[in-house]
Amino acid sequence: MFPHSIWKAGTYQLSQLLNVEDALERILAGLSRLPSETCLLEEALGRVLAADVSADHALPPFANSSMDGYAVRGDDLAEATAEQPVRLTVIGDISAGSAPSFTLQTGQAARIMTGAMLPSGADAVIPVEDTDADWRDGGADSLAGQVAARKSVRSGENVRPVGEDIQPGDHLLSAGTVIRPAALGVLAGLGISAVPVVRRPRVAIVSSGNELLAVDQPLVPGKIRDVNSYTLAGLVTELGATAWRIPPAQDTVDSIRAAFQAAVDWQADLIVSSAGVSVGAVDLVRFVLQAMGEIGFWRVNVRPGKPLAYGSVGSIPFFGLPGNPVSAMVTFDVFVRPALLKMTGRNDQADSISAVLAEPVTSDGRRSYLRVVLERDNGTVTARLTGTQSSGAISSMAKADGLLIIPEGITHAPQGTIFTVRLLKPFA
Ligand code: AMP
Ligand code: MG
Repeated sequence: MFPHSIWKAGTYQLSQLLNVEDALERILAGLSRLPSETCLLEEALGRVLAADVSADHALPPFANSSMDGYAVRGDDLAEATAEQPVRLTVIGDISAGSAPSFTLQTGQAARIMTGAMLPSGADAVIPVEDTDADWRDGGADSLAGQVAARKSVRSGENVRPVGEDIQPGDHLLSAGTVIRPAALGVLAGLGISAVPVVRRPRVAIVSSGNELLAVDQPLVPGKIRDVNSYTLAGLVTELGATAWRIPPAQDTVDSIRAAFQAAVDWQADLIVSSAGVSVGAVDLVRFVLQAMGEIGFWRVNVRPGKPLAYGSVGSIPFFGLPGNPVSAMVTFDVFVRPALLKMTGRNDQADSISAVLAEPVTSDGRRSYLRVVLERDNGTVTARLTGTQSSGAISSMAKADGLLIIPEGITHAPQGTIFTVRLLKPFA
């Protein structure tokens, strides 16, 4: 099922050092897009389109007025000026939503409202302010039999022709696009009420540790509150997937097995666990996984991030992230995010920016993700460390605008060096 040669069931290897790209390539090779389904247009915001959308008809579907005024034949008004207005006979009144059945002859006009269909014979609209008409609120009843035009209009002026916006056959939206409000408008305009979208991935979040308390439990010595299930569920939800936070497991085989079984029973498309995958005496996740699926432990050349576990529980892809809250979030961004994008067929990339170091930094030669605060200064973006880079310091993640990426092999970078920063929040 998972065509990775990196592990064998029942063994784990820490020996092979993978760089981030190689690890990611192996992960993505085993994943494919989830099936599509249909959702109502009113529920399509934020969903991922599963098919290309092209127009089966024109928009606007008929030539219509872009002004309140009079539909005319442009030739009739060629000589019209304020001094020598041209008088036309008003033969009809066209409001938005009606379809005029008459044809305009030379010397004739029809009152027309914005968005109303042009009658045949008309090729232009003279705005009401360029005529002698004096409409008042509610004056629709009192339609004068004649109107004087004080200006000329060219053929086509103040008219929105058929297909000005969309031509039949136009390719409008691509599969893999996240549906935003304007795309909702395109779909609505084309009458697409049932939208083909990729099924939302169901992502089970598993935490484990005897030290973990629920958020509403009082602190007692030796315990901390479970942070990771909230951050990871948040990251999952932001990507348009459905997250289920399974209550944290204890550091026992039975408790961890029960948590994984709950994810299987819930029919998860992906399981993301944090903690319990390092070499501590009670890091039992790997033992449970060896029994329930396949597991590979990789030493990935990344900081923060201990060995990354990747494999499957039954047929469900599985990520075992480190327990430290920053490591869990960073490795999610580096590995799980692309996996979820592939599962939803999304084609968008993570936002990043180039920034100049405001202070020297050191690294240990692994690909490093440093939490930084950004500032814009005369068009230059500078990056400053958030302070402690402890992989347990969740507050530094909340402070950070982005993760500054120090490439492999660099151990020292002076102030002024330019690096790529992966943005964690919008930066103006
Ligand atoms: P472990 O991988 O189990 O050794 O955990 C590494 C570190 O992450 C330890 O300090 C744990 O207390 C911490 N940790 C593990 N899971 C969580 C969690 N869900 N929320 C906050 N901290 C955690
Ligand atoms: Mg633990």
